[in-house]
Amino acid sequence: MNKLIYLDNAATTQVKEEVLQEMLPYFREVYSNPSAIYTFAQKGKEAVEKARKQAADLIGAKPEEIYFTAGGSESDNWALKATAEAYESKGKHIITSKIEHHAILHTCEYLEKKGFEVTYLDVDEDGKIRLEDLEKAIREDTILISVMAANNEIGTIQPIAEIGRIAHEKGVLFHTDAVQAYAHIPLQVEEMNIDMLSASGHKFGGPKGIGILYIKKGVKIRSFIHGGAQERSRRAGTHNTPGMVGLGAAAELAGKQMEEVIKKQEVVRDHLIERVLAEIPYSRLNGHRTDRLPGNANFCFRFIEGESMLILLDQLGICASSGSACTSGSLDPSHVLLAIGLPHEIAHGSLRISLSEETTLEEIDFVVDELKKIVQRLRSMSPLYEDFVKNQK
Ligand SMILES: *Cc1c(COP(=O)(O)O)cnc(C)c1O
Repeated sequence: MNKLIYLDNAATTQVKEEVLQEMLPYFREVYSNPSAIYTFAQKGKEAVEKARKQAADLIGAKPEEIYFTAGGSESDNWALKATAEAYESKGKHIITSKIEHHAILHTCEYLEKKGFEVTYLDVDEDGKIRLEDLEKAIREDTILISVMAANNEIGTIQPIAEIGRIAHEKGVLFHTDAVQAYAHIPLQVEEMNIDMLSASGHKFGGPKGIGILYIKKGVKIRSFIHGGAQERSRRAGTHNTPGMVGLGAAAELAGKQMEEVIKKQEVVRDHLIERVLAEIPYSRLNGHRTDRLPGNANFCFRFIEGESMLILLDQLGICASSGSACTSGSLDPSHVLLAIGLPHEIAHGSLRISLSEETTLEEIDFVVDELKKIVQRLRSMSPLYEDFVKNQK
């Protein structure tokens, strides 16, 4: 088996064929600037508005509540910075969690330098925040709660509806980074009391460099990119028509197939988890066993460096990750794995396998067979493992 086995779908996904076909006319045929007056521009404008409706329908939002951005990072930055600015006179306290994506955490650090106070909620061993902690953390001057819908490393799904209910009981705005969850699991902004939600096209079969921020009607956050009057004057810049069309098409497709894809992925994911835990000694599953993304599995293998595992997997054409693509390259263990209570030496031996809807049981069997050999081989070279085995006897 020498073909590419791509198991890093939490980092990015392949654009779906149907999505690409929808996008193509907007590069060369309908290349008009949707903001212009002439009839030629109308076609572009109609495509953008159709995409906005597709993106809205998936989460039960109104089209006019969807703002296109250049991706998840921009949506997260916008939600936090512009809310902070707009509600500063009410208070300067923000609540988030310790396991957010860096697009949230680094923005919070930036806001701290600007005089805001941020509470970073702990998570339990499965990676969930505790609702009691959230309730206790809310103060008179709290203006925003930002908790991700599902974690990009360990796949744990947060109790979003409960968080939204608590936020609204206390009159606090609720933003969720749903970049991993949107188009993967059901989300309903009204039912879940979500005021703002970030999503990104390339995480669900759409193109890169296009995202959305849902902003509930009535939430008065400032514009983020100043310039032209696009996006109801809240996000300037010539519309990325092909990108928007792609995101919309991918959202609609995901909505139609979601139930079926979830069922299919869960079978493959659970097979992977069961085999790894049963056949590879001193392995553990990170994240919640059942409240997790259908396509996510994350393991730690003791006495092993995650990076070495990735290199050996790569030699077999298997693409996986040791955490998040954004932190690989640094030697620090993942902040998410530390937050769920793992010691540094165990957190270093992590492996994230994130499935696509096309990943098969055969591929997973091949990967597990090879992984077993890789783990054995790396451990046989580890003095720590040797000592450990001696001490067991
Ligand atoms: C990928 C990701 C982002 C960043 O999205 P981009 O579109 O790559 O900027 C933010 N949050 C989470 C949870 C992600 O997985």
